[in-house]
Amino acid sequence: MKQFFRIWIGFVFGICMAGAAPLQVSALHPLMADLARQVGGERVRVFDMVGEGGNPHRFEPRPADMSKMRDSVLVLAAGKNMESYLGRLRESLAEVTILEVGHTIPSLMVGKDEVYSCCPNHGAGSLDPHWWHSISNMSRAARVVATALAEKDPDGKAIYQANASAYGKRLDELKRWAKSELAKVPRGQRKLVTAHNAFAYFAHEFGFQVIAVAGLNQEQDTAPKELAATIEAVRKSGVSAVFPEEGASKKSLESISKATGAKIASPLIADGNGHGKSSGFESMIRQNVTSITQALAAQ
Ligand SMILES: [Zn+2]
Ligand SMILES: [Zn+2]
Repeated sequence: MKQFFRIWIGFVFGICMAGAAPLQVSALHPLMADLARQVGGERVRVFDMVGEGGNPHRFEPRPADMSKMRDSVLVLAAGKNMESYLGRLRESLAEVTILEVGHTIPSLMVGKDEVYSCCPNHGAGSLDPHWWHSISNMSRAARVVATALAEKDPDGKAIYQANASAYGKRLDELKRWAKSELAKVPRGQRKLVTAHNAFAYFAHEFGFQVIAVAGLNQEQDTAPKELAATIEAVRKSGVSAVFPEEGASKKSLESISKATGAKIASPLIADGNGHGKSSGFESMIRQNVTSITQALAAQ
């Protein structure tokens, strides 16, 4: 009877575990949500706090977000001061583990004399938070997330590690593809003239130079002096195309294009917040690499 009871308990326990609720994870950056899904697979349920098209630079958690995070075993931030509100968040979520995924990834700094940055938190001389534009960094981040998930759910350790390594292999493939595509761009054209100063890690990985300027972002009225400086910078760089943000002022774009002869290329996705088809890390890289190659490669 005792034996039967043990088997019965084992059976019931087994059923409970098989139907166990997935681990709840929240992400403060759309690409960290994507990463948690890649590594966690079916064992995790991910809440993307910022969501498609949202702006992780300006995110402020609402009460509903706070309660989702409170119910999560892990909250993923990009780190490197991307989420400048993290200190306050830690105070209100003392019982939840908040992981800065990019923390151990080598940093690049925003140049001391760079005028144009993504937002007031990431100005000249500060840490550049956009580490996710390096494919190698993202592979490394996958291992960081696998370790963090395994700490919360030791039974899933082997699965998280296997998922991270399979994802890493896919990213190796993606990097090879990106390199061969970008090789089509002549050396003298390997410059990204853009408004959102977000591509330093990308440039570092693929041998490009970033030239951040005014007049390509969503601000409607670029001052004539700034516009003149942009036109001068574009002329000096000799690039055949510049990369606006989505929703950039048509008027500014037209005057830049007219004055310099540079084409206006498709917008680049800076913060991993692409919509629909372009959401997620791999799609972001594919779209950006394709836009860059199409715009700058020799015709
Ligand atoms: Zn910023
Ligand atoms: Zn940004």
